[in-house]
Amino acid sequence: MRNDCLFCGIADGDIPSTQVHADELVVAFRDIAPKAPVHVLVIPREHVASAAHVTVDNGALLARMFTVASQVARADGVAESGYRLVSNVGADAGQSVGHLHLHVMGGRLFSWPPG
Ligand code: 5GP
Ligand code: ZN
Repeated sequence: MRNDCLFCGIADGDIPSTQVHADELVVAFRDIAPKAPVHVLVIPREHVASAAHVTVDNGALLARMFTVASQVARADGVAESGYRLVSNVGADAGQSVGHLHLHVMGGRLFSWPPG
């Protein structure tokens, strides 16, 4: 799985990306096709296929993902105005990459419910 996984390749640095954060657990990088002025993806280095595949053992990983997401929001200037965290799971939600990722999106008004 890991071998042909795009986001494992990005985490390992084999596939180029514009990284905004990297530590031992997670990597954050700018989405290649941003849907908002701020659009960053936060991913675990470990291959987890989606939010549906998270286990209780992933607690530290998830805490780090959310912590980094809020750091990114602050660094990109949307912490005060607000931002949206999204993790699509499966076909109906539009998940297109099978490696857990948190979209950090901000810099514009988002509608609710999402389309
Ligand atoms: P999903 O559709 O699975 O929720 O989100 C996948 C996201 O990854 C999309 O927003 C898409 O634009 C982004 N993406 C796909 N391929 C690449 C890539 O090669 N580099 C970067 N930086 N983002 C990518
Ligand atoms: Zn992966």
